[in-house]
Amino acid sequence: MNSKNIKCPVVLSFDIDGTSGLINMDPRTKNFPSLMSMREYGPNIAMPRILKILKKHDIKSSFYIPGFIADTHPELVKNIFYEGHEIGHHGYMHEPPATLTKQEEIDVIDKGIESIERITSQIPLGYRSPSWELSKYSIDILVNKGFVYDSSLMGDDRPYYIQSGKNKLIEIPIHWELDDHPYFNHTPYLNQRNVISNPMSVLESWQLAFEGIFEYQGSFILTLHPWIIGRPGRLKMLEKLILYIKKFDGAEFITALNLAKLFDSQIVSN
Ligand SMILES: [Zn+2]
Repeated sequence: MNSKNIKCPVVLSFDIDGTSGLINMDPRTKNFPSLMSMREYGPNIAMPRILKILKKHDIKSSFYIPGFIADTHPELVKNIFYEGHEIGHHGYMHEPPATLTKQEEIDVIDKGIESIERITSQIPLGYRSPSWELSKYSIDILVNKGFVYDSSLMGDDRPYYIQSGKNKLIEIPIHWELDDHPYFNHTPYLNQRNVISNPMSVLESWQLAFEGIFEYQGSFILTLHPWIIGRPGRLKMLEKLILYIKKFDGAEFITALNLAKLFDSQIVSN
C-alpha cells in the first residue's frame, strides 16, 4: 500500500450474516425453508461470484463473519482468507451487544474469535457489531481482546478515535445510506415489505455519495450483504460502481484494517 497516493480510501465491506441473525432473533425461523434459503444464498451462491468480481478488479475487501457462519462454511472462510481479504468479527450468532450482559458479550467475542482463528490461524483485528449498535462495555472488551478497530458507528465519514476511559479504538464509520439493506431488503415473513429499489437508482445514490466523500476527502465505506447484493442484477450494479470509482485519480480500494493503520500512521506522523 502506497499511502502517499491515496486521496480517498474506498472500503468494500461484506457482512456474511447468512441465517445467523434470523435464528438468533427467533429460533422458530429455522422452520421456514424459504426464508432460510433466501439467506443461505449469500454464503453458498453469491460469495463465489463476489470473490470472482473482487479478483477481476484486483480489490482486497473486509468480510465480517459471525462465528456460526464460519463454523458451518469453513471452506468459504478459507477461500476468502487465501484470496488476501480481511476476516473481521461479527458476533457468534449475530448477537447485538446491547442485548447481552457484560459476561455474555465477552463470551460471544471469545467464541467468534475461536471460530475464525480455527480456520485462519489468525485472530481478527476488526469488529463490526451485529445490527450496528455497541453496548457500554464494548470498547473495553474489544481493546482487551486486542482489536484494532470497530466499524459500527456513524459519527464521521472518515476514521476517528472512540474512547472508554483509557481504552481507545479506531472507528471505521458506516452509514445506512451506504448499506444495501435499506434499499433492497424485502422479507414479508418479518413484515418487512419495502418496495425493492431499482439497482440503477441505488448506483446513482452511491456514485453521488462517493463524489461528495471524494471532495470532502473522506473515506468511502460501503456495507454489503451477500444475500442481498449477490442477486445477479445487483452484482452488475456493483461492478458499474467499481468501474466508476476507478476513474477517480487517488481513489484506492483497501481493507478496513489497512484504512485503520493508514489513519493511525497519519495521526502519529502529524
Ligand atoms: Zn450483520
